[in-house]
Amino acid sequence: MDLRFWLDEAVAFNDDWASGFGPFSRHPSLRVDEARFATAFATFSERLKDNYPFFHPRYAGQMLKPPHPVAVVGYLAAMLINPNNHALDGGPATAQMEREAVEQLAAMFGYDTHLGHLTTSGTIANLEALFVARELHPGKGVAYSTEAHYTHGRMCGVLGVEGHPVRVDDRGAMDLDALEQLLRTGRVGTVVLTAGTTALGVVEPIHEALALRERYGVRIHIDAAYGGFFTLLAGVDGPEGLPEAPWRAIAQCDSIVVDPHKHGLQPYGCGAILFRDPSVGRFYLHDSPYTYFTSEELHLGEISLECSRAGAAAAALWLTFQLLPPTRDGLGQALAAGRRAAMSWAELIEESEYLELYQTPELDIVSYFPSTDPRTLSRIDEASARILHAGMTDTKDPVFLSTLRIRADRLTARHPKLTADIDGARILRSVLMKPESEDYVDRLHRRLEQLARA
Ligand SMILES: *Cc1c(COP(=O)(O)O)cnc(C)c1O
Repeated sequence: MDLRFWLDEAVAFNDDWASGFGPFSRHPSLRVDEARFATAFATFSERLKDNYPFFHPRYAGQMLKPPHPVAVVGYLAAMLINPNNHALDGGPATAQMEREAVEQLAAMFGYDTHLGHLTTSGTIANLEALFVARELHPGKGVAYSTEAHYTHGRMCGVLGVEGHPVRVDDRGAMDLDALEQLLRTGRVGTVVLTAGTTALGVVEPIHEALALRERYGVRIHIDAAYGGFFTLLAGVDGPEGLPEAPWRAIAQCDSIVVDPHKHGLQPYGCGAILFRDPSVGRFYLHDSPYTYFTSEELHLGEISLECSRAGAAAAALWLTFQLLPPTRDGLGQALAAGRRAAMSWAELIEESEYLELYQTPELDIVSYFPSTDPRTLSRIDEASARILHAGMTDTKDPVFLSTLRIRADRLTARHPKLTADIDGARILRSVLMKPESEDYVDRLHRRLEQLARA
């Protein structure tokens, strides 16, 4: 698609729609001078260059990439109106789009009933899940693995509930024996399992944890902020296919968080929270004297903790889903390419004499470290930091990675030949979330080998 053409169309649509309400004059206080604007914009765009090329497969670092052009057009067209999805009074069209997009997300996970909405981020979406969890299990704590996103501990603090980090196994997934021991104390009301940990993309054993829910009467919340869309690859034939069991089990869990601003091709901020039981809407009850006057229907603000939210975010997601729906043949194809990229790079690393694979990728995150002599954690730490820096500062052939700090016991459990002379080391981490990475993996690998050799 031609982005410039459609950006023009978005502006033209707005002019056309606005003109239907008749002429009025813009206030002089808001007028800006073209020449001054040109100067400001020149400075602005110069400053924006201080950025990393998230769009390019050379960027193989964090979970960052630009939104799909369809999302950009949808966002712009709606933003020119600037609806607020707090209430139907703030933007009926985008509120309806939000409902439909959220319904598609719920269907993607196999929920047959749901109550849900978009949020500004995964953090806020998880906060909502834990807030409802607290209301349903007052006085009880929340368990999450030590590999869970750091905001779970923080939000437990915000909510005044006890957070219980649970140790992980060698794979980096919650150890269910340790969880069960904790559940026996009766202090936990909710268990958070992560479908795709942020550091390594590990999918925790959701299907096995479900038995514990029945036994101990706890809620299960799934944090799939990063990994959620990978459910589209569950049970798929071919190298990108994922084991079905944990993904199918999500449909039976009590709540799910997924971030369309990570793998759903959206700009920030677009997170989502889904509850399986729609009656949890009762915990959000509040009275707002300013809003909720155009309709008796439920307003999105009546079922969310946030007040104002960008209707444009819902518009962008809705429009994107018209073209790339959250199905195997839609968005699933883009995720499959990233998954294949991660697996083929992992294979190349395993054969390399200059690099070592830290852990087999479960989704699209590759973790690796330079081979050093001697094989001590301090040397690996130094070499990883050197490669990160050398890669991103090289002007001719740059490559952008990220580092991840791993504790010594975890590193040596996985790689017994390493000597733990310090208590942990940085290794290298690449999230291959652009489908374009698939065709670029060979180059990326050769470049990394060069940097590791240097
Ligand atoms: C990214 C992430 C979050 C936080 O989401 P934000 O949208 O960055 O606030 C929470 N949990 C997991 C597993 C994540 O990957």
